[in-house]
Amino acid sequence: MRDYNCVIRRIHALNPLHAKFEILGSAAGWPIYGITLSKNDMLPKILILGGVHGDEPAGVEACLAFCDLNHQNWFNSFQFYIIPCLNPHGYVHDTRNNDQDIDINWAFPSKNLPEIQALRKFVNDQEYKVIISLHEDWESYGYYMYEYRKDVTAIGQNILKRVAEVCPINLDGEIDGVSATDGLVDELDLEERAKMRGLGIPIALFQDNTDRLVTTETPTSLSLDCRVEAQITAIQAMIENYISLKL
Ligand SMILES: [Zn+2]
Repeated sequence: MRDYNCVIRRIHALNPLHAKFEILGSAAGWPIYGITLSKNDMLPKILILGGVHGDEPAGVEACLAFCDLNHQNWFNSFQFYIIPCLNPHGYVHDTRNNDQDIDINWAFPSKNLPEIQALRKFVNDQEYKVIISLHEDWESYGYYMYEYRKDVTAIGQNILKRVAEVCPINLDGEIDGVSATDGLVDELDLEERAKMRGLGIPIALFQDNTDRLVTTETPTSLSLDCRVEAQITAIQAMIENYISLKL
């Protein structure tokens, strides 16, 4: 069993000067936390989700590590909204699904699920510059990502170039049944995908709350340190692209 109390302790130990946390609800007895890093509530917002699947711990670690980074210059540009572990029961038991054996990533319309309620409460119809959902893949030998975007510049390949410095990239022409280029899954027909898999968290949030949603996938076969570094690098590269390209 993984120690969620350690996650709780790390959240409570965050620097209160820039990090505020709240309990959004609880799932199977475990609290779900939302963290806000903000210096100015007029700044654009970035949402980061970790631990949607309980057996993908690198995203949880990356969220917590990101909260500990002292990048004051980013706080002059953005506010960060972070749910480090949306599925604490799965995290504790190392299962993809929650205690009801539901894959919450694809259960967004299930309004009575505590994890979905917590997410909806935190998102609260806000608009985000970008949403980053941190995932892992047990079958991939390298890192890859999805970039859903509306009328905004593609930056997925910029992110991948940076991640390639710390983690191997999955260079297959097809990933998870979809064609891919240099680790970036090619643009998906989201209506088709929603028909296949249901209205998932990524599709629902992309439709209603942002012009860009990125799902990053680290290969579980590599060391946790490498995967966490890859996830943090992806988040950093995303922010730096937004700042340098004035997106
Ligand atoms: Zn996942």
